[in-house]
Amino acid sequence: MKVYINGTIYDKHDAKISVFDHGLLYGDGVFEGIRSYGGKVFRLQQHLDRLWDSAKALWLEIPIGKEQMGRDIYSMLKTNGIDDGYVRVVVTRGCGTLGLGPDRCHDPQVIIIADTIALYPKEFYEKGLTIVTVSTLRNHPAALSPRIKSLNYLNNILAKIEGIQAGCIEALMLNHKGEVAECTGDNIFLVHKGCVLTPPNEAGILEGITRDAVMTLAREAGYEMRVTPLTKHDVYIADECFLTGTAAEVVPVVKVDSRPIGDGRPGPVTRQLMQRFHEMARSEQREGPANRGRGQS
Ligand code: PMP
Repeated sequence: MKVYINGTIYDKHDAKISVFDHGLLYGDGVFEGIRSYGGKVFRLQQHLDRLWDSAKALWLEIPIGKEQMGRDIYSMLKTNGIDDGYVRVVVTRGCGTLGLGPDRCHDPQVIIIADTIALYPKEFYEKGLTIVTVSTLRNHPAALSPRIKSLNYLNNILAKIEGIQAGCIEALMLNHKGEVAECTGDNIFLVHKGCVLTPPNEAGILEGITRDAVMTLAREAGYEMRVTPLTKHDVYIADECFLTGTAAEVVPVVKVDSRPIGDGRPGPVTRQLMQRFHEMARSEQREGPANRGRGQS
């Protein structure tokens, strides 16, 4: 496997950055997880926009342009011979002194790793996940906005540890107001009396790109789509629950805090949206700069 660092292609084992990089020392940097389906990068522009927004919030200037980044992502997929895969883009603050100061770092590192994708086991999609609500609250948005996809994922990792200890692969996080925020690496949706519900940005969540796509699909399928604050109670009494994320796509949840959701099996709305998402991801027009204007590929 080949890895990209600042425009140079390295063998996997030679792809290294400095121990003085503030990405390592302080989690100072940003990243994106992106999917490619049949050689097409899914929602490339949205991922690039979110990466640039995250960097801006951290006062971090990405040393290449979005067009260039898009081309380089496609070229790394090609270099590694990957059609259906997962691309991790990382931009670190770069090397500085051992002090915090980002102003002393002048060489941000741009890393692109294009790999195959390890999906959740098929069983999870067929039978649904069991999750728990954990005590680790999602970061207060006024302290560290969950809208920044930064290299500091400790908030999510602390929640993930609680989930693992409870024997669950995902864990539900509440915000400082006790409202439902999101899971450690996925957004959450409920279905209640025919309405599809998901928490708003103000609940302190990452604005998921899969979430955005699924909201559109739900509306197109004729469901009322409500972006509204939710509580644990709403989760417990929901007819259906599912999670969305780049790696997970759409995955049903059938039990939360030992309460079966609905009849304890993946519901019809979830199954329909899983199917629609699957079809859309594999049929969307390639939006990579290398192919712009050439229509469906
Ligand atoms: N929330 C968090 C905390 C995430 O890390 C992710 C990304 N894995 C998501 C939600 C889902 O976002 P997306 O659909 O853009 O992958």
